[in-house]
Amino acid sequence: MTSIFDTESLLAIARRGLMLVLSSPSGAGKSTIARNLLDSDPRFSLSVSVTTRKRRASEIDGVHYRFIDRAEFERMRAGDALLEWAEVHGNFYGTPRDAAEKAMREGRDMLFDIDYQGALQLQEQAKADIVSIFILPPSMAELKARLLRRAEDSGETIAVRLKNARIEIERWRDYDYVVVNDDLDRAFSAVRSIINAERLRRDRRPGLFDFTAALLAEEID
Ligand code: 5GP
Repeated sequence: MTSIFDTESLLAIARRGLMLVLSSPSGAGKSTIARNLLDSDPRFSLSVSVTTRKRRASEIDGVHYRFIDRAEFERMRAGDALLEWAEVHGNFYGTPRDAAEKAMREGRDMLFDIDYQGALQLQEQAKADIVSIFILPPSMAELKARLLRRAEDSGETIAVRLKNARIEIERWRDYDYVVVNDDLDRAFSAVRSIINAERLRRDRRPGLFDFTAALLAEEID
C-alpha cells in the first residue's frame, strides 16, 4: 500500500534530541557500554568533558576528555561555560555548555558519561530531555576485580574508587533506569531497549502533529 504523504519525513520533523545520562561507579562497565553505543548508533555523539585529572596512557586529549589545569577549569566555571560540574575522586570534571546546547538545538542525541552529582544538575536544568541510566556491578567483589584487571590506575587510586563506589551506588534512586551489568551483551541490549522506547515517546516526536493531521485529511473511497 502506498501513501500520498511521505510518512518517514513527516515523522522525522524537528525531533527533539535526547540527553542520555550514563552513570555508574568506576569499573561497572559504563565506559564499554558508552563506547558500544557510540560505535553502533550514529545519532549519538559524546559530550566530551573537561577534567583536571591526569590523562591515562590510553586516553586522547579532545576525544575522551579535554585535559585542562585547575586555573582553566575555574575560569570556565566562573564564565558559566559549564552546564554542570563536580569534584569526583579528588579531581574536577565538567560538561562544556556550548557543545551540548548546539546538539540539543540541532535535534541530535548526546551521551553524557557523568557522575550522580552531574546527573542531578542536568535533571534540574533539562528534565524533559534527560533519560538517565545507572549501571550497577553484579557484586562488590566483581567491581574490585574489574578495577584491578583494568590496571590503569595505581593501587591508591583503586582504593579511593572502591570506597566511593558505595557512596555512588546509594544514588540509584535518582535515575530513570537501573541496569545490572552481569553480562556485557545483556546490559548493552537493555540500554538499547531503553533508548528505542524513549525515542518513540510521543512528547519527543513533534512530527506526529503533522503526521496525524495528514492521516486524518487523507481521503479514501
Ligand atoms: P574517570 O576519571 O574514571 O574517567 O571518571 C570518574 C568519574 O567522573 C566517572 O564516574 C565519570 O562518569 C565522571 N565524570 C566524567 N566527566 C564528568 C563530567 O563532566 N561531570 C561529572 N559530574 N562527572 C563526570
